[in-house]
Amino acid sequence: MLKLYNTLGRRKEIFKPIRKEWVGLYTCGPTVYNYAHIGNLRTYIFEDVLRRTLEYAGYKVKHVMNITDVGHLTSDADSGEDKLDREAKKEGRSVWDIAKFYTHSFLRDIERLHVKKANYLIPATQAVNEQIKIILKLFGNGYAYETPQAIYFDVSRFKNYTKLSRQKLSQKILGARREVVVDLDKKNPYDFALWFKLAGRFKNHSMHWPSPWGKGFPGWHIECSAISTKYLGQPFDIHTGGVDHISVHHTNEIAQSEAAYKKLLARYWLHGEFLLIDAGKMAKSEGNFITLDTLIKKEFNLLAFRYLVLTAHYRSKLNFTWKSLEAAQNSLQRLYDFVRELSERRNLHSRDYRGFASIVKKFQNALSNDLDTSKALAVVWNLFHQYHKNPSHCDAKAMLKLLYNFDEVLGLGLKVVKPEKIPQKIISLANKREEYRKSRQWKEADKIRDGIQKLGYSVEDTSSGAVISKPR
Ligand code: AMP
Ligand code: ZN
Repeated sequence: MLKLYNTLGRRKEIFKPIRKEWVGLYTCGPTVYNYAHIGNLRTYIFEDVLRRTLEYAGYKVKHVMNITDVGHLTSDADSGEDKLDREAKKEGRSVWDIAKFYTHSFLRDIERLHVKKANYLIPATQAVNEQIKIILKLFGNGYAYETPQAIYFDVSRFKNYTKLSRQKLSQKILGARREVVVDLDKKNPYDFALWFKLAGRFKNHSMHWPSPWGKGFPGWHIECSAISTKYLGQPFDIHTGGVDHISVHHTNEIAQSEAAYKKLLARYWLHGEFLLIDAGKMAKSEGNFITLDTLIKKEFNLLAFRYLVLTAHYRSKLNFTWKSLEAAQNSLQRLYDFVRELSERRNLHSRDYRGFASIVKKFQNALSNDLDTSKALAVVWNLFHQYHKNPSHCDAKAMLKLLYNFDEVLGLGLKVVKPEKIPQKIISLANKREEYRKSRQWKEADKIRDGIQKLGYSVEDTSSGAVISKPR
């Protein structure tokens, strides 16, 4: 029984899918004006664990993600410049170039972290017609209005606007007042833009499309409403993002989609906590961000970062330090060594490993309890310790299979760990030693073992025969 913490109700709920055939999962994607920092990547790893947990539980997941390549302003509200437009000017390249370059780098990053790519990865600029369609619906239902500069969502018309954030509307008003008011025709400061016209500060905006309101470009939030509805329908099962999306972006998505279609947008809302650095939020705009390339330069295995993320619950803040990454890398290396050792022994026949069923259950229970990855890792380490108590009594083959099975969710690359190839010369020597042992010629047998050791290998006699390995 999978339980997930739903931000809507602020409690863990039993997950019940809407359809039998598939689970609809929508994860808000990157704004492609810069490299993803490891904070962003923490959120994508959390979402990947969610998807893999659903798949592990037997669900077929339809995973949709947007790529924000237009309309995200430097403030999450309506003031400031378009992030892509600003970066393009700064780098002296076209916005399309910028979007292509950073989308590519995002895809490379998630691949390197074993984060599965969404089944539908849709750039906002490829769903402009769908966005216009929702805005027209909002006009039809009386939720949108036009000014000479833009089209806005009329928040005062939508009941329960703050149901996700649980903020008071008065707090929103205060927040909105702090923003620079750039359109004096806006009815309320907290109304948000659905569409910007090529007017005022956006007169020369480089991306624009024809619309019933003249040339312009969509606001940031509308793309997610349009893309999720198109690919998953409404309502769909699970919507996710980082905690910063609760009060603005997701609140606005809900308002738009629910006002347009008069139906719930999504049933479960999951939010990942921040990765911090020096106790502050890591953010592109803060200039304190670390990318995967920084980790590579410092010679880290990138999956050590994935391991580090799994050690914390996704709803807890995680303070990043180089020391913690180093510790994660050491742990991961120990796991790799463990896997290698098991694969070197897997041709051995030994008795059944009796504790397996309960270990699988523990692993499943950890994940089913709102994706408790640190507990799931503890189950793996229990296995490790059980093995090391008495290696020769373990069914290495079955244990290895189990680790591979766990890695379907953990995604730590345990399967690619290759067994050490033992040179033929060493194998022949070991066979010769075995012959001496059988004929009880212990002195000769020991001599060969010393010879093998001099060549850098060791021989261990177990209840299932001799095992050769290269000590690490
Ligand atoms: P963006 O590219 O800025 O739209 O962000 C992409 C994702 O990363 C969103 O789901 C954000 O909520 C999330 N995010 C941004 N900063 C952090 C952080 N420091 N830690 C974790 N997630 C973050
Ligand atoms: Zn979104």
